Formats: sequence, C-alpha cells, structure tokens
Amino acid sequence: MNILILGGGGREHALAWAAQQNPKCDRLIAAPGNAGMADIAELAVLDIEDGPAVAQFCVENAIDFVIIGPEAPLAAGVADELRATGILCFGPSADAAKLEASKSFTKEICDAAGAPTAAWARFTEAAPAKDYIRAQGAPIVVKADGLAAGKGVIVAMTEAEALDAIDDMFGGAFGGAGTEVVIEEFMEGEEASFFVLCDGETALPVGTAQDHKRIGEGDTGPNTGGMGAYSPAPVLTDEIAERTMAEIVYPTLREMVARGTPYQGVLYVGLMIKDGAPRLVEYNVRFGDPECQALMLRLGAQAFDLLHAAAEGRLADTQVTWADDHAMTVVLAAHGYPGSYAKGSEIKGLDTLPADSFHMMFHAGTKEVDGKITANGGRVLNATARGATLAEARDRAYALVDGTDWPEGICRRDIGWRALG
Ligand code: ATP
Repeated sequence: MNILILGGGGREHALAWAAQQNPKCDRLIAAPGNAGMADIAELAVLDIEDGPAVAQFCVENAIDFVIIGPEAPLAAGVADELRATGILCFGPSADAAKLEASKSFTKEICDAAGAPTAAWARFTEAAPAKDYIRAQGAPIVVKADGLAAGKGVIVAMTEAEALDAIDDMFGGAFGGAGTEVVIEEFMEGEEASFFVLCDGETALPVGTAQDHKRIGEGDTGPNTGGMGAYSPAPVLTDEIAERTMAEIVYPTLREMVARGTPYQGVLYVGLMIKDGAPRLVEYNVRFGDPECQALMLRLGAQAFDLLHAAAEGRLADTQVTWADDHAMTVVLAAHGYPGSYAKGSEIKGLDTLPADSFHMMFHAGTKEVDGKITANGGRVLNATARGATLAEARDRAYALVDGTDWPEGICRRDIGWRALG
C-alpha cells in the first residue's frame, strides 16, 4: 500500500513509525514531514490544507491511503476532497471536524446527545455576556468559539478576569475565532484524555493519557503545545472508560449520524473526572501531540491496521492487542519557547540513541542542513519510551534526553509527577 501522512510534528513521526513497520506499507510519503521522518519516509512539499492539491498529489503518486495528522487540513475539508476523489483517508469530514473547530457546535451536540458536560451559554455581543458572568459569578470559563491554537480559553478565577476576557475576545484578540463566545461553568476535577477510533457507527478505545501543558515544572508558567505525556492515565479507570463510551462517545456518534455527518477518525475526548464520574471538557478531531507519541509506542505496528480499519468502516470486527505497559514522552523544546526562540542550532548525539520498540526519539521541529540535524521550531524532539512500569518508562525517556547533545534545548524534568507520586 502507498501511504501519505499529512503533517510534520512528533505526532506524525510517531504515526509514520507505526505505519512503516507494518507489512502492508510499500511506500510511505510525508508532507511536509521533518528530519526524523526523512529516515523512514519520502518527504514531499505540498500545501496540506489545499484539498484539491492533496488529491491531485495522491492521484499522481498512486496513494492508496492518507492519514491526516493535524486539525487544520481536517477543518479545511481535505478529507472530503480525498473521499470525493475516491481516495481512502483517515480523518473526519469538515462538517464532523466542527467537534473541534466550534465549541458551541460541540455543546449543542452534547445537549442533544445528553452527554455530561459543563453548563454553558453562547454570546455574540459583549453586554449580555457580561450580564451572564455577573449573574453566574466566578470561577467561570470564557472561550472563543473557533480554533485559537489553545489560546482562546480563559479559566477566570475572578469575575474581573472573566469580564476582561470578554472585552479581549470581542475586541478582536482572537480574530474570527472570537466573534462568538461560549461561557461555561467551571468544572473541578482531574483532567485526562481518552482516545477512541471511530468509523461512523463503531468506536474502539486506543488508549488513555495525561499531558503537561505548562512550560514550567510543577505545571507552572505559560501554556505550550504540550511538554510531555504519559499513557495510561491512572485516573481514567476501566469503569470510567466504560461510562465515557456509554454516556459520551456513543451518544455523540449517534447524534452525528442523525445529522448526516457521521464521525470517522480519532476522537480525542478531553475529560474532567470527579468522584468517579467523567464530564466532557472538549473534543479534538485528531490525536494529541505529545500523547500520540506515547500511544503509538504502546500500540506499535498494529496502530496502522487500526487506523486503516477505521477508514474502511471495519471497527466492529477489529480488536486491540494490549500489552500491560506504560509509555512516556518528554518534549525537548528550544530555549525561549513558548516565547521567542532561535532556530538553526545543531543537535548532536541522536545517532547514538537506541531506536527500537521500547525507545524512540520522535522528531518535531527538526531540519537537516548540510547533513546535520538542526532545530527548526519550538517543540523540537520527543523522547519516548515504554516500560513495565511508568517509572521504568520515565527512566528510559530521560536517558534518551540525556544522550542528546543539544545545549540550546530545554525540557521539564517532572513529566508524570502526578501519576508517579
Ligand atoms: P483552543 O480552542 O484555544 O485551541 P482548547 O481547545 O485547548 O483551546 P479547551 O480544551 O476547551 O480549549 O480548554 C483548555 C483548558 O482549559 C482545558 O484543558 C482545561 O484545563 C480548561 N478548561 C476548559 N473548560 C473548562 C471548564 N468548563 N472547567 C474547568 N476547566 C476548563
């Protein structure tokens, strides 16, 4: 099979790593990919948000199956264009991708499906939004409706903070994403992510994870794209997973079918768990990064079969072979990230690291220049390891970090602290 992977982050390197080990894979192309993916795939230059261009590329290169990594091509309708061209693809249609692209859409679906989530209201003008905040009081959560790269959510601990957020959002701080604002009840509890493959009708859990969004140790400082993750998430017990499937995932899938927009792809279910009960915080329509890296190392080559089965509508006949293991990813970022950072510094030592089913240094923002691997982004590398216990996975992941010679890089040393105690 000829496979195209869209994206160039650690998530896509991990997806490519799983695909490339699968005997079904004949030819693997990544667009744009990164320096690490270049070892296992051909890299192509392609505007991955341009549906017709991606479809044309697939026809010209006899691509049988496309795996879409990030949300932007999904929201732009690349999966629709591919399917219309007769090309098999993993990822939801633009209409179904609204589960991530529009927070009010997700809330409407939850209401129609009876899925537990925070109470909410939607506003298109500042004055009634402020009245609502004053009536509800703090803490309260203010969200720009559209995609805002993780920056459109203000968890306001005071009323003043929430009112300021309204001024910012209607003042254009988030562009088009902020012309509609969702205000939500503040939910207490512990957050965890649940990943479920969907083929429209059937849903298959493929793992749980927790991530660390803040740049600083102890989960302090500014938000990032994610500084590390581990799988499984101890808080997401089998019982809570079953409740999540019955109370949230399946009702959502049925509602999407009823609306004529069945959901196919991975559903990233962001949960708040309190007193053994799950409530939905958000859906994403793609794997999380860095959670995906930990999940892929646990699933190995079968991950490709699972994605393929989801795309072909065969999940009812598909099972996951689980090992009783744990995995962790530690992100190496450029000094200064998530603020301004320099590109171009050389990373050495990568060729000395173990690369096997227990250890992988997945690349993200890397670029090969004159035969040298250089940093080319904020989040640059993902030290990912698997073990019989989370402590073993952690020790192996940090051994990968310590074997990497990149003085310009930083990482958190406390990934997994909550689970490790
Ligand atoms: P963006 O749309 O800007 O990309 P996002 O999709 O990451 O942001 P959410 O996941 O909805 O936005 O919210 C981000 C974080 O804010 C959550 O991970 C959670 O920690 C917190 N949060 C969101 N909603 C609530 C809520 N109702 N109660 C408590 N915390 C919340």
